[in-house]
Amino acid sequence: MGVSIKNIKKSFKDFNIDVDLEIEKGELITLLGPSGCGKTTLIQLISGIIPPGSGAIHIGSKDVTTMPVWSRDIGIVFQDYALFPHMNVGDNIAYGLKARKTKSSLIKKRVTEMLELVQLMGYGKRSVSSLSGGEKQRTALARALAPSPLLLLLDEPLSALDAKMRTILRREIRSIQKELGITTIYVTHDQEEALSISDRIVVMNNGRVEQKGRPWEIYNQPASGFSADFMGESNKIPCTVEEVSEPDGISLVSSDGDINFRVPYRKKIKTGEKYFVFFRPQDTEVIHDGTNKTGENMINAKILSTEYFGRYLSFDCKAGNTLLKTEISDRQVLDSKIFKVGDPVIFTVNQERCWLIRN
Ligand code: ATP
Repeated sequence: MGVSIKNIKKSFKDFNIDVDLEIEKGELITLLGPSGCGKTTLIQLISGIIPPGSGAIHIGSKDVTTMPVWSRDIGIVFQDYALFPHMNVGDNIAYGLKARKTKSSLIKKRVTEMLELVQLMGYGKRSVSSLSGGEKQRTALARALAPSPLLLLLDEPLSALDAKMRTILRREIRSIQKELGITTIYVTHDQEEALSISDRIVVMNNGRVEQKGRPWEIYNQPASGFSADFMGESNKIPCTVEEVSEPDGISLVSSDGDINFRVPYRKKIKTGEKYFVFFRPQDTEVIHDGTNKTGENMINAKILSTEYFGRYLSFDCKAGNTLLKTEISDRQVLDSKIFKVGDPVIFTVNQERCWLIRN
């Protein structure tokens, strides 16, 4: 059994949190959402730093709802490391074991194991102040894992580090988490980090769970405009359903009548209903021949701006009154003519990659 968060509610003066969530044993889930959506508050509720207004929390088979922090069998890693500055690396790692009155020979063995696990062999006697940011975070992780907790909580553990170190450490954290099979809740507001590290992502919005699912599902099949926007660049075109032919497909027309879409039939939908047709910029193919073509999933637009990112070229375009984002790979940039602001472009949208979001 992993972790069960049953109807946990907490009210502050201007903010309410209300969450129901089951986490499987050994699973790494990420709480993802913008600043102020309640990620840290939820971590504090799970760890016992603050008490809930109502609801229950189980870790493994234990109901921990009213238990103090220290008895919950949790390891916590914070963004700012929160290491004890007056202790060396080894003593920081040993802290939780000493508090549990573990025998000193076992503590010594465990500290060595932990130093090895986080690749800090030989660092035991080093003072914490002499460590780099990455080494401090490795020490914090070792300290959290040393007492073999049932649950590991990581609250934005990498946000104080530079981009390269973040990538290195997130891979290491994932590999250690899998090796130990430890149930883990990871907090971030970085969507790429969430997509790469998680078994499942929980998108939070204003104290509530907006969507939960596998990274691929969250990215490609957003349940709402909020999820779609939060997971990176996307297009959401307001449309009305014109025709439903089950099981072949659904035809929609954009609100301004300029674009016709054909998307796969995936669920019961009625003629006249309003949806956003959602697709990512990379799910398009750009044609640059200047002629006007019409057809399903074909968009005639004008280039408003271009931005080169190395791996791809991104375009902001306008079709009628609709603003759109599309992109082509670096290789296509070399193969094609130069795209200029003001150029007409036609792009087709891969219908399999279109997803309908309730408007
Ligand atoms: P960030 O990514 O910026 O850390 P977050 O998603 O972790 O944000 P929280 O820190 O959980 O968000 O805060 C959620 C909301 O709860 C905020 O509006 C915050 O002001 C409010 N809040 C948190 N703790 C308290 C408190 N003790 N008293 C009153 N309001 C609080």
